Amino acid sequence: MNRNWEMQLSTHDENGAQAPASGNAAPDLTDRVLIENALRASEERFRELLGSLHEIVWCYSVNERKVIYVNDAVEGIYGRSKEEFLANPKLWRTAIHPDDRDMAGHADQLVLETGQAACDCRIVDAADHLHWLHFRLYRVGDAASASGQRVVGVGIDITARKRAELALTESEELFLTTMGAAQVGIFVVQDSKLAYVNPLIPRMFGYRENEMVGMAPFDLVAPELRESVVQEQRSKGSESSRSFETVAVRKDGSTFPAMVLAAPTSYKGRPAWTGTIFDLTERKQAEKRIIELAFFDPLTGLPNRRLLEDRVGQAVAEAERKKGSLALLVLDLDKFKRVNDSLGHGVGDQLLCSVATRIKKVVRKTDTIARMSGDEFVFVLPGSDAEGAAEMARSLINACAQPFIITGHELTVTPSIGISLYPTDGQDFEHLYKNADLAMYQVKEDGRQNYQFYSQSMNSATLEHLFIEHGLRNALAADQFLLVYQPLVLLRTGHIVGCEALIRWQHPELGLIQPIRFIPVAEDSGLINSIGEWVLRKACWQAKAWQDAGLPLQAIAVNVSPVQFRQSRFVEMVAEILQTSGLPASCLELELTERTVMHDAEVNLGTLSALSKMGVELAVDDFGTGYSSLAYLKRFPVGKLKIDQSFVRDIAEDRDDLAIAETIVSIGHSLRLNVLAEGVETEEQLNILEEGDSDMAQGYLFSVPLPADEFAEMLRQQPFEKADGKWKEW
Ligand code: C2E
Ligand code: MG
Ligand code: MG
Repeated sequence: MNRNWEMQLSTHDENGAQAPASGNAAPDLTDRVLIENALRASEERFRELLGSLHEIVWCYSVNERKVIYVNDAVEGIYGRSKEEFLANPKLWRTAIHPDDRDMAGHADQLVLETGQAACDCRIVDAADHLHWLHFRLYRVGDAASASGQRVVGVGIDITARKRAELALTESEELFLTTMGAAQVGIFVVQDSKLAYVNPLIPRMFGYRENEMVGMAPFDLVAPELRESVVQEQRSKGSESSRSFETVAVRKDGSTFPAMVLAAPTSYKGRPAWTGTIFDLTERKQAEKRIIELAFFDPLTGLPNRRLLEDRVGQAVAEAERKKGSLALLVLDLDKFKRVNDSLGHGVGDQLLCSVATRIKKVVRKTDTIARMSGDEFVFVLPGSDAEGAAEMARSLINACAQPFIITGHELTVTPSIGISLYPTDGQDFEHLYKNADLAMYQVKEDGRQNYQFYSQSMNSATLEHLFIEHGLRNALAADQFLLVYQPLVLLRTGHIVGCEALIRWQHPELGLIQPIRFIPVAEDSGLINSIGEWVLRKACWQAKAWQDAGLPLQAIAVNVSPVQFRQSRFVEMVAEILQTSGLPASCLELELTERTVMHDAEVNLGTLSALSKMGVELAVDDFGTGYSSLAYLKRFPVGKLKIDQSFVRDIAEDRDDLAIAETIVSIGHSLRLNVLAEGVETEEQLNILEEGDSDMAQGYLFSVPLPADEFAEMLRQQPFEKADGKWKEW
């Protein structure tokens, strides 16, 4: 658009009044003045009108190649005076933004060729601000006429509209970029069809990018859920936003868990739903993992104690509501520890897994099996009564009856099962579990591989057993054991020649506990090995210390449990303790009960011989209570028999006891063994035993078992020493 125009408003406007043609008769002067006046007035009105417009209006003379008119509006938009534009023809062009000049030139050409043209272009005002102008150009006049061809232009300021458009485009671009990069699927549904999906959705569902628009959104839900999802969404109405989890189905038919959030909006001016969809697969997996770790036993995959408590809670609530029943079974594998000890934990773990697999097959879907600890499993049977529970216990015992083959080993495990019933035996997890556990212990006491219902009478005895077993586990570490020493008196001289070391357990709550209460428990649990080792070590060090202090101690007797004695490294351990303590082997006397030595006598012969070769003395404790084979007794390298105190107790009154005691003495002597009488409490008993030729005695008549320092004092003083073959008063 060439704006090198100069102002010269022609009266020969195409449509306007034209001056009278020169060929006509000249009008008279008055007429002429009148006409000129009228023209001037019309021109004046016309100028006024153009001047009041907000749009720029100008007129360009093609012949003269300059702008011949421009209205006042140009000043408001360009910030320059009309005169500047009329005087400087180049100003029109230089004010156009450089990028838009070609487009403006094209419009200038077009208007001459076709009669009109239009374009939007930017101009730069005097203060360097940009304005968008919409120009419309019209060709007027005719090249042959006197005033020649002209172009009339109108320019409208459209800056505000352009800015709004630009902002819209920018936000649209931003929207599309965001949608493209979003890690969440974004969609628009209109008329029950997908109207828009961001790029992630086709990837999520395995479709090509342009394949999904137009699909029904419910086709993306797993078929079996479609109906319910549609129903549910309908019930929520069309106004409120919603969120729901569902199973989404991909193009290939595979599915994934998804979370959908949707809200009513408008899209392209019409009502629609906009929403997001998340693939929950990873989150679900993470959740599952967390749940597994928190609620399942990692070895067997069975529920752990936490989940069990929860399930029992639910089952109890249900039973309460329905006035129904519920059974809880505690199953413990008998002697499982032996498998662990002899074949290692790897085999033990595999065995537990195999047991878990078998017992899982026995229970109903509604039952829960949990692994509580080690080899203990708990079953919750909702709705089950005593009969059902007993039936289940028998099935479980049967299930374990076939041996398990683990890495080539054929292993047999037998279960002991305790049962408690809701509501009689407990109304919450704690009580039901505790009581079923007590019943299970009772089964163990009664010989294992069976089941039993809880009964109230079990409580005290088994509770103590539990309490003791639990406490024993850390008694050694907590240094709660101590030894007391009871003098062994040589009857011929009255000398204290040795002592028997006897263990005591200083329990923090129960006080001093006698061995009869905890040794059997320690034997059951295998803890006796470490406890026995501690006793042996402590006794040897103590005896050596007394000897070093010059006390006349010939020997210290230490009791050995059968469990300990059958340990493969027993002999080795004794040798090591003797060596480290420095006590001569001949000063150690190991006491084994008659039952211990006679059980598996052939095997024991080897161990006893090894000990004897080392120089260790051996005594048969509680003699007379078991069944001795004299043949073995003859072959065993033992040096002493200890007459059990049960024969000594009534020796004065009971002729049978007396006969037994006398027989033991004579057997012992005939095998060249020393004979010691245990439990001597009265002088009468002592006299009888002396008459019967017993070699030694031990009992309350001389002394109760004493703490180390008191025994040392007694050893030093030798209070029972005979004078002239007679007992002194003491
Ligand atoms: P035991 O080896 O036959 O020990 C003798 C038991 O008779 C001791 O009981 C002792 O205190 C008790 N006694 C001693 N004189 C008399 C008496 O005149 N009258 C009565 N009524 N009893 C008397 P304690 O210390 O309670 O030990 C009981 C059993 O516990 C022991 O019988 C022994 O079999 C076992 N025991 C004790 N200490 C140990 C130990 O360190 N290791 C093992 N494996 N067993 C032990
Ligand atoms: Mg003993
Ligand atoms: Mg004894």
